Amino acid sequence: MNRTQIDKTSNLAGHKVKLNGWVQTTRRMGKMVFIDLRDISGIVQVVFLPDNKELVEQAKKIRPEFVVEIVGQVNERPAKLVNNKLATGRIEIQAEELTILAESKTPPFEIVATEKEQENEELRYKYRYLDLRRSKNQQMLIKRSRFIKNIRDFLHQENFTEIDTPILAKSTPEGARDYLVPSRVYPGKFYALPQSPQQYKQMLMVAGLEKYFQIAPCFRDEDSRADRAPDQFYQLDLEMSFVEQEDILRLTEKIFTEAIKSIFPHKKINNTPWPRLTYKEVMEKYGSDKPDLRKDKNDKDELAFCFIVDWPLFEAGKENGHLAPAHHMFTAPKSSDIPLLDKDPHKVLSWQHDLVLNGFEVGGGSLRITEPILQEKIFELVGISQAEAKSQFGHMLEAFEYGVPPHGGIAPGLDRILMVLLNESNVREVVAFPKTGDNREPMTESPSEVSADQLKDLHIKLDKK
Ligand code: ASP
Repeated sequence: MNRTQIDKTSNLAGHKVKLNGWVQTTRRMGKMVFIDLRDISGIVQVVFLPDNKELVEQAKKIRPEFVVEIVGQVNERPAKLVNNKLATGRIEIQAEELTILAESKTPPFEIVATEKEQENEELRYKYRYLDLRRSKNQQMLIKRSRFIKNIRDFLHQENFTEIDTPILAKSTPEGARDYLVPSRVYPGKFYALPQSPQQYKQMLMVAGLEKYFQIAPCFRDEDSRADRAPDQFYQLDLEMSFVEQEDILRLTEKIFTEAIKSIFPHKKINNTPWPRLTYKEVMEKYGSDKPDLRKDKNDKDELAFCFIVDWPLFEAGKENGHLAPAHHMFTAPKSSDIPLLDKDPHKVLSWQHDLVLNGFEVGGGSLRITEPILQEKIFELVGISQAEAKSQFGHMLEAFEYGVPPHGGIAPGLDRILMVLLNESNVREVVAFPKTGDNREPMTESPSEVSADQLKDLHIKLDKK
């Protein structure tokens, strides 16, 4: 007999089915036993009637979170016993056979997801596999998966090529600290986990791929703060050749409009086309470079996207006596402003664009510098010596001497966008195995110590206080 998913049982009154799942609750009423059985698709009530004594005795052994297989008859419930709160509330299963596939200890918290439940994060993340049994969390992961599939399919249709770039990479400066991985083969040398695939995607443009994307894992070693991305997150990283800024913005708008319409159809995008606002304008009008343009901030289904353009190339002030790039060092200045680079660099505007959603910065990108001389000039202004530029970015400067197409891109942060779409206030809630606020993963207890042999292999001696 094939297994039936619980959500299919509603339409199978009069049939015999085999169900597999977890026991949500058990209740004894007189000589009868009731259980609510749960699988990925829903919950159904199963009844063990007193006439089959042996079966009832067996059912009495069942406790919440046991994994069971039940064969039974789908019965229409009498009108007064219909439970409108359950999708399967018009029927129940009259059990005929029961197999306990696995027992369960009493879980450290109830699996039922109610809005009120707020166990501490530490406990939920330590037992994340139990936390994820809650239908709200399962639905989150399912939605996330479908949302990303929709984006992938769309970009494939638009002739983009999905390309994986290295995880053991050379550091790309996105303004954060790198996660480093020591090389065993080359003592004293390190890979960096990519803060973003920025340099690789630009190289792919030099390589003539023209339209690249990747659901790219990015790593930034930063102290967690509620408003910061976690140390590991996913970007929809994309890059295109022979485009203008407006092409990138239009494509971004199309990708997300399409994915939201399909996967989050109850959400309303309030302003289309999404407003393109200049940095100057938003700072004057809203005092923020990530304005919340929702009309009703209490409406959790309203989405207000906008793009911020015409950013200054450099951040206000100086770091160690040098200019700091507002985005990253590969962002192109507007050509008319290039003469200002020496005279009045803070006046130079760039081709950067940020994507903002409901007051959150959810992505950024730009048109890129493609002239080696201009790129060298920017390195110099941000305080990277010629020798350093050569050792860190020599490959880029060299590649640009071999026929580089004009190109640009963007990298919307998928976790942040999903956080807003799923009405979560914390980005950690939209990933399967999140870290705590202080960068630990309580389930596997990472980070962890490693053996002396491993350290020796890697030529590492610890200097622990
Ligand atoms: N690499 C950039 C970032 O992570 C995005 C881009 O410029 O395309 O912010």
